[in-house]
Amino acid sequence: MVIDIREQINFLKDLIAKKSRHSLSLKLIVAIGILVLTGSSIFWYMIIIRGEQEFLNNSIRHTAAYTAMIEKSIFINMHARQVGTIQDTIEIIGSSENVMNINVYNLEGEVRFSSDRAMVGRKIDIDSSCRLCHTDPSKPEETMTMKDSSMWTIIKGDDGRVLRFLRPIVNKESCYSASCHYHPSDRKILGILETDYSLANIDSTLRRQKIETITFGIIFTFFFCIVLCIILWKILIKPLQLLADGMKRVSEGDLNHRVEIRTKDEMGMLAETFNSMTRELRNARQKLENWAKELEAEVAKKTEEIRRGQEQLIHTEKLASLGRMAAGVAHEINSPLTGIVTFAHLMLKRIPPENKMDREDLEVIIEQAERCSKIIKGLLGFSRAIPAERADIDINDTIRHTLEIIQNQAKFHNVKIKTDLSPDLPLIVGDASQLQQVFMNLLINAADAMNDRGEITIATRLVTEEGREFLEIEFTDTGPGIPEEHMGKLFEPFFTTKPVGKGTGLGLAVSHGIVRKHGGHIKVKSAPGKGTSFFIRLPLVTGDSAPDPA
Ligand code: ADP
Repeated sequence: MVIDIREQINFLKDLIAKKSRHSLSLKLIVAIGILVLTGSSIFWYMIIIRGEQEFLNNSIRHTAAYTAMIEKSIFINMHARQVGTIQDTIEIIGSSENVMNINVYNLEGEVRFSSDRAMVGRKIDIDSSCRLCHTDPSKPEETMTMKDSSMWTIIKGDDGRVLRFLRPIVNKESCYSASCHYHPSDRKILGILETDYSLANIDSTLRRQKIETITFGIIFTFFFCIVLCIILWKILIKPLQLLADGMKRVSEGDLNHRVEIRTKDEMGMLAETFNSMTRELRNARQKLENWAKELEAEVAKKTEEIRRGQEQLIHTEKLASLGRMAAGVAHEINSPLTGIVTFAHLMLKRIPPENKMDREDLEVIIEQAERCSKIIKGLLGFSRAIPAERADIDINDTIRHTLEIIQNQAKFHNVKIKTDLSPDLPLIVGDASQLQQVFMNLLINAADAMNDRGEITIATRLVTEEGREFLEIEFTDTGPGIPEEHMGKLFEPFFTTKPVGKGTGLGLAVSHGIVRKHGGHIKVKSAPGKGTSFFIRLPLVTGDSAPDPA
């Protein structure tokens, strides 16, 4: 509660400091304040007026009572012919509190009895007294102004207001028929009984009451306004401020902000709705951020793919030019090389067997020239300078022929070759000798990797890839496997790990080229220490639709 009041004081200070004419809270407080002030003013004004009326009515009743009493006393004492008693009675009543004076005078204006004995016998201005009740005293009945039979009026005295009561003393039958024959019967009114009652005391009481009532009214209105402010602050202004603050923070991007209003009323519902709205916004933003991240990753991936593709393209271009250049060079060197080998052989025949040194030199020349010739053949194969044939091939037969050729070679004497050839494979279209060259390359590589001792498994089967049928030939060896860093370079021309003079680095490049020309592809699977498997896949197409390996 203490905090609330402090908060309210700060809030009011804020309002005053900012002079915020548009503030809802200020408008509410001012409107309710005016309403309370007007309502309570009317209420207290009615209470004051009502009090005044009540006091006056009481005074009138009181004055009317003792005036009637005096009138009766006059009648009784006149009939009893005790005129002195009338004077005594009037003097006694006249000495009562607030009774200013009591006069009884006849129609000539002579005071016959008075609460002030000195006044008896004096003449008063009867005309001015008559005018209190008649506008024209000469025509009393027609010009009577006092409708009220009690006949009173309020006049201004020296000490304040005075309630003047006037009662005509009527000439009753008992008066004019009395034995004294004092009053003639044609007179209606014998005299006037006038009493003046001071309202000074009542007026001062009323004034005091008025001041008290107004003070009470102001204090009540003030406290009412304060209590109203507290209630308004608690149930309306503070929740509204929290909501406005929350909306500002959310609009600034703070979607984790929650508006803490725990009431079960409309404000509580509004806060709950607002909180669920920010929760939804937060989720939506999270989703967007995730999408953006995924998109970024996808863009980065695609960019990398494009970059790799471009690199690949440049590389392929390089290889193509290299191939063309190699083909040209190989073609040029091939003829002189053939000449060297031929003439070296002729010379070897001419040199006698005892000239061992020359013969050995010539054999080295022949050996090296043949090696060069082998490299050049490889280069020509790589650049497809050797024309390809196109025929129906039984792949199992091609494998068997290849095995027949290599099995007699010393290299394969300690290599166990197992076959698992699927029977009834369909024929494929291609160049059997080129494919034989591919198989040979793979078998020699396997034997090299196993240091010419180990096991090679050859298997054939039909497989389906992306809805297309392929014939798959698998070559698996029990060698040391291929290191990870070499995997990407295997099919590049001139990549070799074999010692100089043993490997050219063209075997796999040429094989890859041949298989591609047949519309297929080669894949390799290897792990260091676990052997290597090469998979050649050739498409099952026949006749004209088959790719031309040339
Ligand atoms: P070369 O046989 O003249 O080296 P290749 O293109 O045929 O050229 O082979 C390239 C390289 O691939 C080889 O030097 C060797 O390192 C690696 N390689 C090929 N086949 C195998 C295999 N079965 N096991 C391990 N390494 C292999």
